[in-house]
Amino acid sequence: MVLNKICSLEENRTPLELTDLPVPVPGEKEVLVKVSACGVCHTELDEIEGRMPPPSLPIVLGHQVVGRVVKTDSKTSTHKIGDRVGIGWIYSACGKCRFCREGSENLCHAFKATGRDTNGGYAQYMTVPEDFVCPIPALFSDLEAAPLLCAGAIGYRSLRLTRLEDGQNLGLTGFGASAHLVLKMAKHQYPSARVFVFARSEEERAFAKELGAVWAGDTEEEAPEKLHCIIDTTPVWKPVVEALRNLAPDGRLVINAIRKEDADKAYLTRLDYPTHLWLEKEIKSVANVSRRDISEFLRLASEIPVRPEVQAFTLEEANKALVELKTRKIRGAKVLRID
Ligand SMILES: [Zn+2]
Ligand SMILES: [Zn+2]
Repeated sequence: MVLNKICSLEENRTPLELTDLPVPVPGEKEVLVKVSACGVCHTELDEIEGRMPPPSLPIVLGHQVVGRVVKTDSKTSTHKIGDRVGIGWIYSACGKCRFCREGSENLCHAFKATGRDTNGGYAQYMTVPEDFVCPIPALFSDLEAAPLLCAGAIGYRSLRLTRLEDGQNLGLTGFGASAHLVLKMAKHQYPSARVFVFARSEEERAFAKELGAVWAGDTEEEAPEKLHCIIDTTPVWKPVVEALRNLAPDGRLVINAIRKEDADKAYLTRLDYPTHLWLEKEIKSVANVSRRDISEFLRLASEIPVRPEVQAFTLEEANKALVELKTRKIRGAKVLRID
């Protein structure tokens, strides 16, 4: 399913076109993967509608890919034919720069994203550098594993960046798919940590408490205790300002959002130095993911275990899945099942 041009999904409900392409040929140190499942992510909407356009078109989208290795670069390969592998947002990085050497390959100047900078998993086959695929724990079916490769891995990275310690207070502002996975991970990794959730809707707050949050309130409410770290997963500014107010001295706000909208940017002028920043409070953003995030998260997800609710579509139904994602129909992760 190929994206040929940027467009609004409101005007064009079939932005992807079913196209016959030759089976790609793996280059040196690459493997050819026969795709069996590919998750449908909000990022695809950003790519199609031009908020994060792929640098060149046409392109095959999709960065939550599960499949089996069907061809390797025989000289070197560490993979066997038939190995089940996953491919996430990170497609490749240079491997040589300071960031790559330190394991922060997500910050590499040559970072390439699957399904944006190179063809992804809305297809029967894709090629990928052999060092950038990860094994999938046996617990998960192909369809279940696919949606774990994006939001879960990024949530895991956000939690890692908070440097939370067991027994401390963690705040979550926004309570969508990624945040609720973070809550489950935090409860598992730091059993004595106390989780506080800020969410606009009553339903989300009730859900947070059901999953073990000790407190849930609206975005501008003050938590009953100061928080050591907070993860913001919203696309707006108000939660940033309100989170800073709730931080303890030396506290850290981790912003896990690809973009922030301009609509409520004026809220930032409420930033008051003594209230929001004084006492060595920190702000850190989260960019992309590393291979370590993906493989550690998958291991953790199988330990907890986290099993996503999945709604399957055929490859030809990719446009339908995207439109439903945009219009927020039905809960559960949307995944393309590909034969
Ligand atoms: Zn994604
Ligand atoms: Zn690099």
